[in-house]
Parts: sequence; C-alpha cells; structure tokens
Amino acid sequence: MKQVIIIGGGIIGLSSAYYLQQAGHRVTVIDKEDFHHNCSYGNAGYVCPSHFVPLATPGIIWKGLKWMFNSKSPFYVQPSLNGALIDWGVKFAKSATGKHVKTSAIPLRDIALLSQKEYEQWATVPGFDFAYEHKGLLEIFQTAPVAEHARHLVEKAHRLGLDTVLLDTAALQQLEPHTEINALGAILFRCDAHLYPQKLMQGLLKILREKEVQLLGNEEVVRFEKAGNSIQKVITAKNAYEAEEVVIATGAWSRNMAAMVNTKIPMMPGRGYSVTLQDSPYRVNYPAVLAEGRVAITPMDGNKIRFGGTMEIVPTSAPPRYHRIEGILNAVKRYYPAFDIPMPPTEQLWYGFRPCSADGLPYIGRIRNYKNVTIATGHSMLGLSLGAGTGRLVREIINGEKTSMDITPFAVERFA
Ligand SMILES: Cc1cc2nc3c(=O)[nH]c(=O)nc-3n(C[C@H](O)[C@H](O)[C@H](O)COP(=O)(O)OP(=O)(O)OC[C@H]3O[C@@H](n4cnc5c(N)ncnc54)[C@H](O)[C@@H]3O)c2cc1C
Repeated sequence: MKQVIIIGGGIIGLSSAYYLQQAGHRVTVIDKEDFHHNCSYGNAGYVCPSHFVPLATPGIIWKGLKWMFNSKSPFYVQPSLNGALIDWGVKFAKSATGKHVKTSAIPLRDIALLSQKEYEQWATVPGFDFAYEHKGLLEIFQTAPVAEHARHLVEKAHRLGLDTVLLDTAALQQLEPHTEINALGAILFRCDAHLYPQKLMQGLLKILREKEVQLLGNEEVVRFEKAGNSIQKVITAKNAYEAEEVVIATGAWSRNMAAMVNTKIPMMPGRGYSVTLQDSPYRVNYPAVLAEGRVAITPMDGNKIRFGGTMEIVPTSAPPRYHRIEGILNAVKRYYPAFDIPMPPTEQLWYGFRPCSADGLPYIGRIRNYKNVTIATGHSMLGLSLGAGTGRLVREIINGEKTSMDITPFAVERFA
C-alpha cells in the first residue's frame, strides 16, 4: 500500500483515484480549482469507440487555415510566436499523415472499448447513476463528399469489428420521428454510448469521499521536492505532501506540470464551448455529430439537450469568444430546422480546455527521469470516453501489473 498523490481532479484524475483506492492505496487528489470547474463537466458525454481517427489527419491543416478567417468557424488557432505553440504545431503537422491515422486506429479503439467496459461496470455500482445509455451515436451528413467519406469510415469501422451501419435519409428520419432532419444520411455507430458528465463527476466525487480519498481543492501544485530519481513531496502554495507515487493528470495544464519533472510533452489547450437546455422543448432520440458543422448534440439525463463544439487552440488565459456559440447554434438549425435556440445569457454558456497532444493520442505511462511519476493526460477530444479505461491503466502501471492493453503507442516521451 502506497501514498499516492494525484494532481488534477478531472475525469482522468478521479478515475485514477477510484482504481488506486480500490487497489488498497492511500490516495490524495489535489486540484487548483474546486473540482467542479474543468473540462470534464460541459463536454458532450460520448463514450465512443467510433472515434478511432485522431485529431491530426491529412487535410486538417488546410481546413484549419481556411477556417481561421471565419470568426464562427469550428477550428481556430490563435497565431502567436509562443514556443510551445510552434513546437506543438510542427509536431501536429508531422503527425497529420495517412500512416499515422492507420496506426492510431487500433490503440484508440482498444482503449475506448476497455473504457466502455469499465463504465458499464461502474453503471452497476449501487447509487452510482450517471445516465449511461448504450444506444449508439449518429454522424449526420449533408453533402456528397462527406457521404462518400462516411462510406469509407463505415468500411474501416467494420474492419475494426465495430458495430456500425450506414443510413439513408428515410432510415435516419425513422430513428428521429419527432424531429425533421435535413440530411443526406448518417452513420449509426451502434458501438457507442453516452452519459451525463455532471452526474458522472459528482457521483465519482461522492464515492471517493465515502472511501476516504482525500480531496484537496483550491490548492495549486507549484513544485516538487526531489531526491535522486524520485519525488519525495508535492508542494502547493499552502502545504507540502509526502508522496510515494505521483500521478500527473492536469489536463490542458500538463505541459508545464510535466516540465517540473524534466519531461517534455507537446500539448496545447483546445477550447470548446457548450450550451445545455435543461428542459428541452425539442426531442431527439440519439446523440449526433453534425459532420460538416463539427457540432455535437446530446440528449442526456431525461429532458436535457447539450450542443457543443469548436476547437480553439489558445492559451488557457485567452478570454472566451462567446460569439462562437452562435456558430454552433446556427449549425444545429441547418440540420434540425425546427430548433430555434436563441443565444443564452453568458452565465449559461460553458467552455473548457481539451488537453490536445500533438498527435491525438493520450500520454499514459511512466517517465524516464523519476521512477515514481506516472503521467495520464493529452486525451484531446476523448478524455471522457477514455476516462475509466485510463484510470484502470494508471492502477496497473503503478501496481506493476500487466496492462490490459499495449500502451506503447501512448508512451509519454514518444516525441523526445
Ligand atoms: C465542447 C467539448 C465537448 C467534448 N465532448 C467530449 C465527448 O463527448 N467525449 C469525450 O470523450 N471527450 C469530450 N471532450 C473532451 C473531454 O472533456 C476532455 O478530454 C477531458 O475532460 C479531459 O479530462 P482531464 O481530466 O484530462 O482534464 P480536466 O477535466 O481539465 O482536469 C484537469 C484538472 O487539473 C487541474 N490542475 C491543472 N493544473 C493544476 C495544478 N498545477 N495543481 C492542481 N491542479 C491542477 C485543473 O484545475 C483541472 O481540474 C469534450 C470537450 C469539449 C470542450
């Protein structure tokens, strides 16, 4: 039994705490905020083995450049001479190849399936209800080129053994009898599930408290006390905590945290926004990605509907550009013409920073310089989906167990 300090109380940190506590360790989670303000709350809630294509794909660079000049577009990189951005951008561009897409598919599928299995187990824990539904995810398209792309994607999904079917307009409309949909068709990824992130996070916090995991909010970790090749203490602005093992799960802030243990991970924050109708007058049966609009829509937890999207590569200090939410709502109306959603007041708008690795794969594993440090971050658009699986892998790494899958593709120092 060891004293484990986990830095970061998003889904990755809390899920790691869940498995490490279960394995008998004494666990403390430290977060600079109050555990309720991070990227793991306002996301679209997809648990999606279908997302086996990483963010870095051929063509994304040109699309990004084109979109950059439209202030309501789904993708934006704030130009800057910042070294971290340049380093990330060069590595991202180098990763955006067909070969990388091909080699990433199996590890992304495997960690997503592992994670989904774990969430399905969590959903059976008495009192742990997070509105988990395994009914599938639609990817709706409106244009012929995207329809063609969808056909290829379905073939790839079949080769990966993922239950997927291509729907024409009529078949799509049958799934959504209450809502007119303006589309050429859709992919139905039957392999996918979704959940309500707020309930997941609050339920996890409750379980961890009951299991006497120490949860320390509003304490920012500022440095480490080191001896030889191990970390002895984790130092916050208020206190120092003895540690036998340290887990860095600080999401979009992980680049700086990793640098404190002399480890380089190329990483940029990717801001996204969401709006949630708490009691929606509209009805949809299925969560859906609006392919050309790059928007996610999720019916969740009864009568709620969440709309989310955009990817802004900006520092976490950049002020929010709320007008991007208009771009999201306009896209929704193009697919669901009956959906008239006025721009909500600012206090109802949410944004969060995705931890974007340079190649769209997470960083999970030990580091070279310190023998008692594990990093688990960089999940980009998939942190919720891969959260439970990542927590399990962190436990296996720290316990020296055989990992549930090959984690070589997630090696923390693969860019070193
Ligand atoms: C609009 C949108 C929709 C999305 N939809 C999906 C989806 O449907 N499915 C999916 O899988 N993913 C989705 N994502 C991505 C997902 O939300 C993220 O990948 C995930 O939440 C990242 O979790 P995390 O634990 O790594 O980071 P976070 O949740 O951001 O947690 C990191 C924590 O570390 C803390 N921290 C940072 N630095 C320090 C420090 N020095 N000391 C102490 N604490 C520190 C922070 O305060 C924070 O609480 C979406 C994201 C967005 C923005």
